[in-house]
Amino acid sequence: MSKTALTTDAARDAHGNPGGLLEQANDVFDSIVDLRRDLHRHPEIGNHLPRTRERVLEALEGLPLDLTLHETTSGIAAMLTGDKPGPTMLLRADMDALPMPEDTGLDFSSTVDNTMHACGHDTHTAMLVGAARILAARKSDLPGRVLFMFQPGEEGWNGATEMLNEGLLEVGTESPVTGAFAIHAASNIPGGFLGLKPGPLMASSDSMEIVVTGRGGHGSAPHFTIDPVPIACEIVQALQTMVTRRIDVFDPGVVTVTQIHTGTASNVIPETAWINGTIRALSEKTRRRIHDGIRRVAEGVAAAHEASVEVTVKLGYDVTVNDADYAMFTADVATAIAGDRNVRIMDNPVMGAEDFSYVLNRVQGAMTFLGLMPGGMDIMKAAPNHSNRAVYEETQMRRGTALYAAMALRHLGVPLT
Ligand SMILES: [Zn+2]
Repeated sequence: MSKTALTTDAARDAHGNPGGLLEQANDVFDSIVDLRRDLHRHPEIGNHLPRTRERVLEALEGLPLDLTLHETTSGIAAMLTGDKPGPTMLLRADMDALPMPEDTGLDFSSTVDNTMHACGHDTHTAMLVGAARILAARKSDLPGRVLFMFQPGEEGWNGATEMLNEGLLEVGTESPVTGAFAIHAASNIPGGFLGLKPGPLMASSDSMEIVVTGRGGHGSAPHFTIDPVPIACEIVQALQTMVTRRIDVFDPGVVTVTQIHTGTASNVIPETAWINGTIRALSEKTRRRIHDGIRRVAEGVAAAHEASVEVTVKLGYDVTVNDADYAMFTADVATAIAGDRNVRIMDNPVMGAEDFSYVLNRVQGAMTFLGLMPGGMDIMKAAPNHSNRAVYEETQMRRGTALYAAMALRHLGVPLT
C-alpha cells in the first residue's frame, strides 16, 4: 500500500506506465470498443439481459475462467484462479441500460425503442472484459484469484443484492473475497480523470409516498369540507423546514417532492391529495432521522387540519461507503496508472445511489469515477449520465481497463513493474 513504491519511475515501463498495463489495455482496445458498441446498439433493461449475457460470454470465451451463470438474474460470476495461492479480489461491472430514448446521433446508437445505455454501463462491461483478458494472460504468475462480477439491474433493480443472495461471495473459506473495486464512468467529467473519496461516496436513495385524505365538496364552500390541497402544500413546505432545522448540516440529507397529484375540476374540492418524492442521505443515522421526520411532519400537519394521512417510505439503495484505507490505496494505484494530475480526492460525495453499496457493506473496497467526457467539450455543457444526449469517450476506456487490472494485481500483492 505504499504510495512511493507505486509511483517511482522504477515502477514504470519504458513507455512511462507501470507494468505496461496501458499497452496491454491498448492491445485489447479494439475488441473492447467492438463489444461496447455492440452492447450500446442492443441495450437491455433490468435483471434479465439475455443478449448482453450472451455477448459477454462470447467475449470471455477461451479465457481460463470458472463461470457461474446466475439463475435469478443474468449475472455472471467469472473466477480467474492464479497458479499461485493468494487472496481473492472482486472487480465489478454493471451491464444494464435505461428506459429512455437515445438522441446522441452516434452511428452505433441504440436500435431498441426507448432503451439507451445512458449511464455508461456498456463501457464498464467492456473495460472489465478487457481487464479479464489482461489478467488471464498472467495466470501462471498470479498469486491469488480475481472474481469478475458482471451484474444486471443496477438501475433500480438491485441486481447486486440478487447476485449476493445467490452466493456471489461463497467462494470457499480458504481464500475469501477480501477486496472489491468498481469503476463508474461519467460523461461530464474530463476524459481520463479519476475521482474518489474515502467514506460515503454516494447517497442512500429511498422514496416516499404521502396520501392526505380529507373530505371533498363544493369549491365555493370549503367550510363544509376538509380540503386536502392546502394541507398537502403545507406538508411539502414543512418537510423542507424539517430537513433544514432537524438534520445536521455536516451529515446532510435531501428531501425532494417531485409529484403532487390531486383534483379533477376547478369547482370540486377533492377528497385526497397524493405526494411523492425522493429521500437522500449519507449516513444511516440521517436516513432514519429523515424517515421519522417525514412521518412526524405529515401526521402533525394533517392532524392540525383534521385530515388523515398515510405515509409510506420505500427503502432503496444503501449509502455507498468507500473503506477509508482502501480508498487511499485505490488513489495510489490510480495515480500510478493515470499520474498525479488526473487523480482527485473529491471534496464531496455524489447524491446519486449505487447498489455496489451492498458489496461494500460486505467486503472492504472502493468505487471510483472515471471521466469519459469527449475532448474539447465544456464541462458545464456536456450531457451528464442519464441524459438522452450523453456521449462517452472511448479512448479513455484504456485507462479504466488498466486500472481494473492494476487494482487486482496490487490487491494480490503484485508490484506494478
Ligand atoms: Zn450507472
